[in-house]
Amino acid sequence: MNINEIIEKKRDKKTLTKEEIKFFIDGYTKGEIPDYQISALLMAIYLNDMNTEETVNLTEAMMLSGEVINLDNVDGIKVDKHSTGGVGDKTTLIVGPIVSACGIPVAKMSGRGLGFTGGTVDKLNSIKNFKTEIDKESFINQVNDLGISIISQTGKIAPADKKIYALRDVTGTVGNISLIAGSIMSKKLAGGSDAIVLDVKCGKGAFMEDIESAKKLSKIMIDIGKAHGKNTIAVITDMNQPLGCAVGNSLEVIEAIEVLKGNGPKDLIELSLSLSALMLYAGGKADTLKKGKDMAQAVIDNKEALNKFKGLLKRQGADVSVVDDYSSFENAFFNKNIRAEKSGYISEINAKIIGLSSQKLGAGRMSKEDDIDMASGVYLHKKVGDYVKEGEVIATIYADSKKKLDLGYEFILKAWEIVEDKIDAKKLIKMILIDGKEVESVSEF
Ligand code: URA
Repeated sequence: MNINEIIEKKRDKKTLTKEEIKFFIDGYTKGEIPDYQISALLMAIYLNDMNTEETVNLTEAMMLSGEVINLDNVDGIKVDKHSTGGVGDKTTLIVGPIVSACGIPVAKMSGRGLGFTGGTVDKLNSIKNFKTEIDKESFINQVNDLGISIISQTGKIAPADKKIYALRDVTGTVGNISLIAGSIMSKKLAGGSDAIVLDVKCGKGAFMEDIESAKKLSKIMIDIGKAHGKNTIAVITDMNQPLGCAVGNSLEVIEAIEVLKGNGPKDLIELSLSLSALMLYAGGKADTLKKGKDMAQAVIDNKEALNKFKGLLKRQGADVSVVDDYSSFENAFFNKNIRAEKSGYISEINAKIIGLSSQKLGAGRMSKEDDIDMASGVYLHKKVGDYVKEGEVIATIYADSKKKLDLGYEFILKAWEIVEDKIDAKKLIKMILIDGKEVESVSEF
């Protein structure tokens, strides 16, 4: 077998065999095949696609390129949750404690931010002394004793994906559905859970901008999960405007704590309860999604979810008092208000522009070596559908330097559209793909 023939085969729209896929994944991971050949192959895949079988084989080869976590020593059905990447998406910090409080063990390995989308590990690192690097044994012990641990995914998980993602990022090949599905699912399968709930973001601030592509990505990821014997559920959710009001690391953690206290923005609460319901259903704790949602609400109301979050903080080295006193989070040195240019209804808060602005403000990395500023970001005082008066404050931006504040300010102003006529708020949950069915909301299943 040789790589030239594999490239030519995909260039000529032919199907690659399992052996050929394994050959190029292993060869590239070991450094035996150079970047330029894999770049050419990625472009051929991007242009000519892979079928489901090739995508399943690609995922398996990437999963097996590194360590596959064995969670057999953790009691119960382990349910993982993954978001394909959004702006203001802090649901893991809310859903993890909720489902753990309902009896689902949460053994979660999370990543850092990708591009303008934030990552759970970066958010958790904004909590003083919170440790995200924990050895495997302590991780598993913690899940057994406490019911939850959230740690940083190590470089040992799917190293092939790490190398290939970096190459896709600079060769214009990120946006292919097979490559995205393989990248996400190789890491999820290596994480060792029994079931997977996927939040597939759809809209201006997501990889998938329209519902048809989001559905295609969901279906292929469900097929990959099934091929590995994992019950996999997908929910397609709106990512035209950011989720919740806070975008940026410590701002998002504070907002997540507020939801666990029973407060917080409506859209974030709705998605967090729905994702919890899906995880409780997948984990066999609720036999309908409606019951799952009620269980999730109950552990918010009786503070068990908040107490679970406090337990997580304590076990991973942080001071529990942050939950009641936000002053220990870093403060941004500079801030500036954004005001409505005219009176009317907000019809758009472009999630991509908000995400990119937040990156420029210092909340995200421009290159993978960059440090991030924990207190930087954007806080939205108004959401799509709200009425605003000319000059009213609609958002506040935060940064650690005047230069970053100015950079972010220039960029962010293009995010809003205000119209005269009242508009309907956008539907947050567009579709749930569950047990071979398509449903519109958790109350239907
Ligand atoms: N998230 C990933 O992990 N990989 C992709 O390719 C896209 C989103």
